[in-house]
Amino acid sequence: MTTSHEGTAHGPGAVGGARWIVGADGLALRLWSGEPVPMPTGRLHAVGGDGLVLGRAACLAPVVLLDPLDWCWPDDGGEEWPPCWICLALTR
Ligand SMILES: [Zn+2]
Repeated sequence: MTTSHEGTAHGPGAVGGARWIVGADGLALRLWSGEPVPMPTGRLHAVGGDGLVLGRAACLAPVVLLDPLDWCWPDDGGEEWPPCWICLALTR
């Protein structure tokens, strides 16, 4: 396991090709095939850079991070989990 501390210049707005992690306003247990599983509630947000450490979305809302294997920004936004429009604007 290696930990890199390279100070690459990821300023805010360095979006080119960046991969955003999806965050949600909150989590709630839902029954899924008879099993309670945590599902996001509220809106979806984009999280990247320091936000991953701070638990803040690009719009600075506090979020819980979702599994990047299961959630893809902004494609997984929809009727049930509308994507945050501020994050959408910031990540375009
Ligand atoms: Zn947001």
